[in-house]
Amino acid sequence: MQSRFDFVLDELQQLKDSGLYNLIRTIESAQGAWIVVDGSRVLNLCSNNYLGLANEPRLKEAAIQAIEQFGVGPGAVRSIAGTTSLHLKLEKALADFKGVEDALSFQSGLCANIGTIATLVGEGDAIFSDELNHASIIDGARLTRAKRFIYPHRDAKGLREILDKEGKSARRKLIITDGVFSMDGDLAPLPELVEVAEEYEALIMVDDAHGEGVLGDHGRGIVDHFGLQNRVDIEMGTMSKAFGVVGGYIAGKKILMEYLRQRARTHLFSSAVTPPDVAACIVAVNLLASSDELVQQLWENTGYFKKGMKSLGFDLAHSETPITPVMLGDAKLARSFSQRLFEEGIFAQAIGYPTVAMDKARIRVMISAAHSHKDLDFALGVFGRVGEELGVL
Ligand SMILES: *Cc1c(COP(=O)(O)O)cnc(C)c1O
Repeated sequence: MQSRFDFVLDELQQLKDSGLYNLIRTIESAQGAWIVVDGSRVLNLCSNNYLGLANEPRLKEAAIQAIEQFGVGPGAVRSIAGTTSLHLKLEKALADFKGVEDALSFQSGLCANIGTIATLVGEGDAIFSDELNHASIIDGARLTRAKRFIYPHRDAKGLREILDKEGKSARRKLIITDGVFSMDGDLAPLPELVEVAEEYEALIMVDDAHGEGVLGDHGRGIVDHFGLQNRVDIEMGTMSKAFGVVGGYIAGKKILMEYLRQRARTHLFSSAVTPPDVAACIVAVNLLASSDELVQQLWENTGYFKKGMKSLGFDLAHSETPITPVMLGDAKLARSFSQRLFEEGIFAQAIGYPTVAMDKARIRVMISAAHSHKDLDFALGVFGRVGEELGVL
């Protein structure tokens, strides 16, 4: 029988035929090094829980207390129904942590990106974006009427050429880059990009989703890592990765936050993060500010695992961070690899198009401070066996 959804059936079948159909597994335990997935206890190598904070007792305790005091829901959007003192406390903690004047909390990193980009530029303006920037940046740019220019990956010289040619007529210019690129784990050449921004009087914004809790002193992020304090106009971050909870934020000058509170549509038209989430985030930020032990452990684990993978003969592309792409090329091979890993007790997802380019499918391994060397040895053993079995090594 014909149905108006036949086109959906066709599209889904195409995804399945090309190995791009996304199998979403069910988790039945708290986050941690080992989790229960679809009934099996497996080593977790695919969460962004870099520091193990997602199930940290102190964060959980703060969330429970916040529920007792503030309940579970924010009531409405902050600009209409008022904001809780908790949200303001988180924003103060984030601003102090990042060493900037002010910060503004959003419901997610995606909401922070799309709300901010669409507020800062519009008709007559121009956005300059790295070709491998995160989808939330791409979507934010699409929501504006600004002209969009994509520069080659990590290429400050390429950016300068485009600015030279296309930037002259723009009213405002906004350069945007991921700090750490989320699928490859390489870093933006931020010092060079900042120089270009200053030369062309462009605003510069960095998405630090995978940088905070990872790079810089006590995990303060990529701006701190490169010593570029006060030279990056807009820092965006998420609370859902190293901080272990959920939510997003923008950090920078007071006047920028004042403007976003008035105009950012994700701030004005969507309710805030819930009180227990915010309370847990505050503890996470304070914890990181007071100790860098977990950040050190994360890097120690990362070095250990990457060294093991390289000596097995795997191609880890250009990763400079705990994001460890195990390059396989073909999407179907990546799917089978992931499936075999799972059967051997490892949860590590295959990533293919459209998240990465067609011929750049991979297993993306995320290292965490929560892993022990014993866990990582187990992983190396399984990767070696499966790699040989599938003819990758
Ligand atoms: C995860 C991620 C986001 C989105 O953050 P959420 O809080 O999950 O919405 C934005 N940018 C980058 C680079 C990311 O990796």
